Amino acid sequence: MINRNISLNRGSYKQPNIFGYYGNFGGAYVPEMLYRNVEELRDQYLRIIYEDSFQQEFKALLKDYVGRPSPLYHAKRLSEHYRTKIYLKREDLNHTGAHKINNAIGQVLLALRLGKKRIIAETGAGQHGVATATICALKGIECVVYMGSKDIERQAPNVARMKMLGAEVVPATSGSQTLKDATNEAIRDWINHPDNTHYVIGSVVGPHPYPDMVARFQSVISEETRAQLKEQEGRELPTKVIACVGGGSNAAGAFYHFLDEESVELIAVEAAGLGVYSGHSAATTRLGKTGVLHGSKSLVMQTEDGQVIEPHSISAGMDYPGIGPLHAHLFESGRARFLSATDQQALDAAFELTRLEGIIPALESAHALAALKEIRFNPKDITVLCLSGRGDKDLDAFMKAFEVQPKNSYEQDQSVI
Ligand SMILES: *Cc1c(COP(=O)(O)O)cnc(C)c1O
Repeated sequence: MINRNISLNRGSYKQPNIFGYYGNFGGAYVPEMLYRNVEELRDQYLRIIYEDSFQQEFKALLKDYVGRPSPLYHAKRLSEHYRTKIYLKREDLNHTGAHKINNAIGQVLLALRLGKKRIIAETGAGQHGVATATICALKGIECVVYMGSKDIERQAPNVARMKMLGAEVVPATSGSQTLKDATNEAIRDWINHPDNTHYVIGSVVGPHPYPDMVARFQSVISEETRAQLKEQEGRELPTKVIACVGGGSNAAGAFYHFLDEESVELIAVEAAGLGVYSGHSAATTRLGKTGVLHGSKSLVMQTEDGQVIEPHSISAGMDYPGIGPLHAHLFESGRARFLSATDQQALDAAFELTRLEGIIPALESAHALAALKEIRFNPKDITVLCLSGRGDKDLDAFMKAFEVQPKNSYEQDQSVI
């Protein structure tokens, strides 16, 4: 099922062209000082990740360390509520609590085969930092995580986890002291240590080959889904696949093996924050224009003169002013449908899933759940929703919401800010 070749044409959904383009989006816009690193990765990644020894080690870790395959769970009460059949792909049950570990393992194994001795990463809320620090501890390799100093204050438990795992957490004190600034610091570090260091990017963003590489590591999600549907439903193809999009890695993984199956409807859900047009949003396909962000051409939220607009979402993993180039192409071509959910709609959806199924979802995943209300279902449809992570990390936000909403308010109170 996996195509190892890179096409010479305009690229397809599953594989960009040799320059890293999916249609009009992608490429590698990097400073000259990084050419060598990015070129080395581009020339080596496909050969290395499809070597037998790599595949064996990667698959063994996904199985016994992460706990894959993650279950494809028929959520019966949720299904009844929406009068259709809904399966949850349970990435929340992975070690470290989300899909991010799939990619972190893949990239660290690749870095070791490239002879790298040191791993760096950027992190916003800390989830990608924790996943990366985890696999670095397992492999006994040095790990440095850049994090905005504001985020370090706001995300104390994840900072503690990374430190306990042996990572050095370096505060980024410039600019808004958040993810964007941490990314700049990580890039600076990479420029200064081009030979011994690999930069683990946490989503399907960044210069080619990162979007394609991360999508391939996350594609295990849809590979498993096909096999599980075959076993549980007697058919490999669902009617719909729904996933939230921050940068787009869990969605890329959940869509991957269905991208060329035209009968499968793909639905991506972005964060609308306080409302798409409120000025406090992260709904990139609704608000963005073509631009270059973090090394690739994609849709970016920006002012008339190209200044990146600060995004807002209640959920740190959705709080990004762009989307990966694959998703920009899926949007522009119409292959995927893009919806959005506000902070309040995501909170309501998180409470609804918790009360109906006894599963507390990550706030990111709750955006995908919120979209269930916007979609018209046929009772015969089979829908797969990627439950990208668990909600333990979001308990503060849930507690705050709890204080302002009466108990059991999830059905009555669907108010949208
Ligand atoms: C980081 C994160 C996301 C958003 O990132 P994508 O690259 O869009 O998947 C979604 N869900 C969870 C649980 C996350 O931790």
